[in-house]
Amino acid sequence: MEKVKNLVVGAGLSGVVLAERIASQLQEPVLVIDRREHIAGNIYDSKHSSGITVHRYGPHIFHTNKKEIWDYLSRFTSWHYFFLKPRAWVDNAYVTLPFNLNTLRQVFPGHLAARLEEKLVDTYGYNVKVPVMKLRQQKDADLQFLAQYVYDKIFEKYTMKQWGISPEDIDPEVMARVPVFVGRDDGYFQDKYQAIPAQGYTRMVENMLHNPLITVRLKTPFEKIKNDIEYQRLFYTGPIDEFFDYKFGELPYRSLRFDIEQKNTEYYQPAVVVNYPNNFDFTRICEHKYFLNEKASTTVISVEFPQPFKRGENEPYYPISNAQTAALYAQYAAETKKLPGTYFFGRLGGYKYYNMDQAVSAALALFEEIK
Ligand code: FAD
Ligand code: UDP
Repeated sequence: MEKVKNLVVGAGLSGVVLAERIASQLQEPVLVIDRREHIAGNIYDSKHSSGITVHRYGPHIFHTNKKEIWDYLSRFTSWHYFFLKPRAWVDNAYVTLPFNLNTLRQVFPGHLAARLEEKLVDTYGYNVKVPVMKLRQQKDADLQFLAQYVYDKIFEKYTMKQWGISPEDIDPEVMARVPVFVGRDDGYFQDKYQAIPAQGYTRMVENMLHNPLITVRLKTPFEKIKNDIEYQRLFYTGPIDEFFDYKFGELPYRSLRFDIEQKNTEYYQPAVVVNYPNNFDFTRICEHKYFLNEKASTTVISVEFPQPFKRGENEPYYPISNAQTAALYAQYAAETKKLPGTYFFGRLGGYKYYNMDQAVSAALALFEEIK
């Protein structure tokens, strides 16, 4: 029987932060396993034969307001500052996304855009974010018209495609991630720090794992080794329902298929990300050379097709947040209390729709708790 002091399941960002802290701060050995053939989980990127760095699991832009998270990751990477300004393909035109005062001018005649702008600013103030579901509650006829337009053209069908359920059945926080912006900033995020690791995410993760006390084993599912290994502490970032053998039922996840294609043209689209709320079966197309401003005569795109998650067939990318899934997750979370020395965290272990900075923050908080 193999003996290890600390076993981390999952070499994604969450597991790697914890392994890095245990090794560097407690000087204890850590074994990190992952069932995939690479480190970094969903933030994995690699060089395509064209020379372009490709985000294998969709567009990843690091953004945070927390200086301590920024400073922590900055020990392992330098940064390429990057401000995401996506577009949406609406009525045969590329429009500014999030829907803001510039988008108003792009989609409506001048006099109507001016009137709607005045009403929005009078009602909410300037540089204010308004979730579309909140805007829909306005009684004013003009604002109702606008809310309905934005809901129809940007949110409803995209959300149906992405989640497979209607916007009413998903936690309002999910759509509120992309509010209507009463302002002229075209940025998708307003965080103080927004960037991409200058040598890519995988290199950053390699640097985090670069410690003689850390051993990484890939293509190693926990289920395969769990009976052959003795550990003092287990840190688990895989799906929490899988760990408990689905005893209360399966937690639903949403998956994606990424079609990665090389195109024989210098640029394919006018922005790094273009969302397709209304047309086609896919939700968005990402053009990867924009991330690090890489030059190449061809280009690489990835097209995202949402799918239901099916065990053994695809990956659980998104926990589905609503009251029902929260109740099921709570049953599993209660089970974890019966297992001292075992900790569940990360996007799958905690069943939380985390951005990268939230995943790092949660892993650092867990380290403070156990150290
Ligand atoms: P994961 O990256 O999912 O890592 C979990 C790892 O555990 C995986 O490698 C998996 O193979 C492994 N594993 C699971 N079960 C087992 C098992 N039983 N045995 C062994 N190994 C196992 N965040 C941002 O901040 N900005 C963005 O722009 C952004 N874009 C995103 C786009 C997409 C399409 C997706 C899906 C996510 C995006 N995110 C973004 C979120 C970001 O990917 C996550 O916050 C982050 O990757 C979470 O890391 P994690 O380690 O918790 O999970
Ligand atoms: N959304 C939408 N239309 C868009 C962009 C986003 O309806 O053009 C909604 C959709 O429900 C989506 C959610 O807002 O799942 C959050 O979007 P975000 O871009 O944050 O999703 P992620 O990058 O995590 O896939």
